[in-house]
Amino acid sequence: MGSRSRVSGKVAIVTGGNQGIGRAIAEKLAEEGAIVVVGDLRDDRSSGAHGGEGITALTLDVTKEVSIRTFVDEVLQKFGRIDILVNNAGLVMHKTIDDQTAEEWDRLMAVNLRGPFLMAKYVVPEMRRQGGGTIVNIGSVEGFMVNPWHSAYAASKAGIHGLTLALSVDLGPDSIRCNTVCPGWIDTDLNRAYVEMHPDRALIERELGQLHPVGRIGAPKEIANAVLWLASDDSSFVSGEMISVDGARTKKISLPAILDEEYRAKLTKVQA
Ligand code: NDP
Repeated sequence: MGSRSRVSGKVAIVTGGNQGIGRAIAEKLAEEGAIVVVGDLRDDRSSGAHGGEGITALTLDVTKEVSIRTFVDEVLQKFGRIDILVNNAGLVMHKTIDDQTAEEWDRLMAVNLRGPFLMAKYVVPEMRRQGGGTIVNIGSVEGFMVNPWHSAYAASKAGIHGLTLALSVDLGPDSIRCNTVCPGWIDTDLNRAYVEMHPDRALIERELGQLHPVGRIGAPKEIANAVLWLASDDSSFVSGEMISVDGARTKKISLPAILDEEYRAKLTKVQA
């Protein structure tokens, strides 16, 4: 059978799937034959954002336990099982430690870290009853290394990486796998303001691309491809992993700008 069979007929939840990376994940899983339920703050059924075959949109606020319980019940009523949970909903804040308030810190953690914990808490019993399942979290390269002014965001993503390790160990005996995809810079609304606020948009886009050794930023569908693999049986012995999808951004050690290409070329000649 072709790749369609990898998640074909499986019921998948994607949180924050109305736009950006979540939307690409929902569309990819549906394209591969999964029955996808998107849970997001806004119910986009009326706007037609999820007119795609195999995608149902339901309202979900991952910061509210009651909303999660209602959402999971609704999914089970409609589709009878849950095979795949993709914890994607997230937000970012750019604040110095002096400006960041405790309320803002709590708000970010409620979406980025407490949300995935609560989603797993209410989905896992069903996966256990069915004899297994798979959880894919969207972490970040910022769980490993950090942009300035991102104390809450980086802490939340490092927390996701820790949660991934813990769930893989605790739920392995129930045949439930848990992995995390760590994106580099992906072109979505989450960080578009960075680019749009800069007076020289072409320059900032080029420089952002150059942070990634492949020479460009990523697209949501490139994250979706990795999620598909982790959600499918093709990765059946993979659990507890943080997989960077970042064009090698986290593999590059910076050198002082003064050691530019010309300088390195001279160095090569001296060594020859
Ligand atoms: P977007 O801002 O484009 O999309 C996030 C989605 O999550 C939105 O639809 C948003 O709804 C929804 N959402 C926010 N809060 C909640 C909530 N409480 N309950 C349910 N849904 C909610 O972001 P991206 O697609 O860029 O990011 C997706 C994930 O990828 C995030 O976890 C992010 O941290 C991570 N990531 C993104 C990177 C990037 O470069 N873009 C890099 C590394 C990681 P609404 O719009 O109504 O608020």
